[in-house]
Amino acid sequence: MAESIRVLLSEEEVDARIQAIGEQISRDYEGKQVHLICVLKGGSFFMCELAKRISVPVSLDFMSVASYGNDTKSSGLVRIVKDLDESLKDKDVIVVEDIVDSGRTLSYLLEVLRGRGPKSLRLCTLLDKPDRRVVDVKVDYTGFQIPDEYVVGYGLDYAQKYRNLPYIGVVEL
Ligand code: 5GP
Repeated sequence: MAESIRVLLSEEEVDARIQAIGEQISRDYEGKQVHLICVLKGGSFFMCELAKRISVPVSLDFMSVASYGNDTKSSGLVRIVKDLDESLKDKDVIVVEDIVDSGRTLSYLLEVLRGRGPKSLRLCTLLDKPDRRVVDVKVDYTGFQIPDEYVVGYGLDYAQKYRNLPYIGVVEL
């Protein structure tokens, strides 16, 4: 069945917000190098756009986690499918996520990463659904707080589709 997509945040709005976060990070990390960790696959579009707008030196790494939940709800049980290539020891790390929903995935992930000895560890998410939070997670940089609706685009999928949309939309079935 074909679903339709309603625009929630336009490409221009998303781009402008990413620009502002990039400038904020550049100010906060002046004189330092930031190590961005992308949580695949959803965080990839956001991380690339964000990295382009950060003016301090940047290094990148990628990891992939899978939740044992169904498609639209995470169970809280998370497994690392692809681990980082590099050590985090003494690095100023920012985890770049697409969306924080219940907070379960990030809470687990941040605990694992904290154990690897970074100099600092922060979280940056493009989207945040605060109404859905089950586990408390400190978000340092947020693109947009959005209502409890299932969104796609800018890396976020619905059954692996729509990641390539240059805006954030809501799936209407
Ligand atoms: P959490 O563990 O915070 O509940 O879930 C985080 C993950 O759930 C996100 O990284 C994303 O993969 C998925 N997710 C949560 N809400 C949405 C949504 O509205 N749209 C899409 N496409 N994925 C979502």
